[in-house]
Parts: sequence; structure tokens; C-alpha cells
Amino acid sequence: EEQKLKRIKLNKAVTMDGTAIELHANIEVPEDVVQVKAAGATGIGLYRTEFLFMNRREMPDEEEQFIAYRKVAKDMKGLPVTIRTLDLGADKEMNSDVVRTCTNPALGLRAIRLCLSEPQIFMAQLRAILRASHFGNIKILIPMLSSLNELRQSLQILERAKQSLRAEKLPFDEDIEVGGMIEVPAAALCAEAFARELDFLSIGTNDLIQYSLAIDRTDDTVSHLYNPVHPAIMMLIEMTIRAGNKLGKPVSVCGEMAGDEKLTRLLLGFGLRQFSMHPSNILSVKRQVLKSNLPDITSTARKILNNQDVDKIEPLLQKLNLQ
Ligand code: PEP
Ligand code: MG
Repeated sequence: EEQKLKRIKLNKAVTMDGTAIELHANIEVPEDVVQVKAAGATGIGLYRTEFLFMNRREMPDEEEQFIAYRKVAKDMKGLPVTIRTLDLGADKEMNSDVVRTCTNPALGLRAIRLCLSEPQIFMAQLRAILRASHFGNIKILIPMLSSLNELRQSLQILERAKQSLRAEKLPFDEDIEVGGMIEVPAAALCAEAFARELDFLSIGTNDLIQYSLAIDRTDDTVSHLYNPVHPAIMMLIEMTIRAGNKLGKPVSVCGEMAGDEKLTRLLLGFGLRQFSMHPSNILSVKRQVLKSNLPDITSTARKILNNQDVDKIEPLLQKLNLQ
């Protein structure tokens, strides 16, 4: 089995009917790139930059961030590197006064909300990302969007960051793509509007499940209720993929679901063509892609999507995975 997985490492991820699928990796620190390459991923779909900010008192300045992002961009040698802007707060805490203790951290001033309320932190990060974009193929990903308003404010600050670099004659990728995380149910429901103003979407199923099912992802006492194939979750995922596909904007799933080989066919059947996961899952997901025939799986995936009886989902999923 181990040998078989190793053999498919060099194969491109293509379905039996010839559809190319992008299998990207999630990283937390620049050193993770070694694992990404060993797994044969074709890009980084999620670079969780908050790890550079965690377990320390002082924020990393623009220069320190620039050096880290440039290293990843260079090491990936032109393959896409999707850098997510700061997703601090809730489960990703920092020992700093900037991240205030909130009564309900998952619903509080986290991620893009924190960045918009502390624009100098956001600006330093955006400048660092832009400067690094000169050294590779970088894309920007904004976490936790819940309204278009936050997106537009973010894009304005990005524009200011670009202007400041132009004024200083510092080079950056003028055409850098900007994507948004769809991980708040409200954003999934309005996915089309977000897709219109963004270059790509990335579905964060970890938070999408937490917020849709009202289950704290860090609370063990309710973890048995955390169900990625709850009918409501599948509907939100499918509608987001459909919105992106309709507008010709790439959609990726970068939450844990993307790395679960039992769900690969389901997501393919919903129209997903890009996955981003922990590097250790790339090969097993690729194996599923290689033995999937899209015309065969689409109708069963649709049946699962139209089914609201939770008890019928497991047998239908098994059928889908045996096709
Ligand atoms: C997610 O929410 O699914 C996600 C990918 O982001 P994180 O797990 O870092 O919150
Ligand atoms: Mg998230």
C-alpha cells in the first residue's frame, strides 16, 4: 500500500475522464515547504500566517514577515503560494494586548475584523506580502469575510499598500490575485456576490461547520455533533462551488474536509476542482482522484445533496465511494 502511494506521487492528479484537479497543501511555517514538495503538491492553497505571530509578545514587523513570505515564494519556484492574511483570535491566540479577551472569541474581533480595526498591522502584512510577490507566484487570501463591506475595505487598504510601495519604488506583482475565505454561512449564502469582486474563493470548512451547526470546534463535549456531511453543510459548500464555477472564478476547499479521502468524490461531484490540505493527505486524495470518473459520480453526489435525512447519507456515501 505504502509503495503504491509512492508510485502515484509523480502522477498528475487527473480523473479517469481526463479532468485535471489541483491538489495544494496547507502550511503554517516556511519550513513546511519541505513536506509540501515531498508530497508532490502543485502549490500552497493556504499559508496560515498567524503562526508567525503566535507564542510571542511582540508582533513581527514588516521586514520579518517579508523574509518569511519571500522564502516560501522562492522555495516554491513559481508554483502558487496562497498567503492568508492574519487570522488571529478565537482558536489562534496571541500573547498580546492587541487581541483583547472577548466574551465569545469565535464571534468576536478575529481575523479580518481585527485587521480592519488595527489597520497598521494589516498594512504592514500587506506590504510584506506584496514585496514578497516579486519573488514568486503569490496570491492573497482574506479570512472570515462576512460582508461585502469588509471585502471592499480590505481591498482599499491593499490599494493603499500598493501605492506606498510604488512611491518607494519597491517592486511587487501588480496583478496579484485576491481571494476570500468562505467560512461564515452568510458569506456562503452570498458567494456569488463575493465571487464577482474576488479572483478566487476558498471554502474553510472547519469554521463553516462550526458556525453553521453552532458547534465550538475546540469543545470536546460537542465534537460528536461536528458533522461535515450534514445536509446544510453540503448545501453551503455546493452553492459556493456553483457560484464560483458560474463566474469562472476558481474555488478551493482548504478545511479538513479537503484532506479526507472519503469525501474526495463527494466534493468532485459537487464540482470542486481544487483541494488544499495537510501535505500528509495529498497522496491518498490523489489516489481517489485517479480512480474517479466524473460522469459516474455526479448523479450520486446530487442524490446525497438532495437528501435531508442524516441517516441515509452514510450508505449513499459508501455507494459513491464504491462506484
Ligand atoms: C477553516 O476554517 O476551514 C480553515 C481552513 O481555516 P482555519 O482552520 O485556519 O480556521
Ligand atoms: Mg477558518
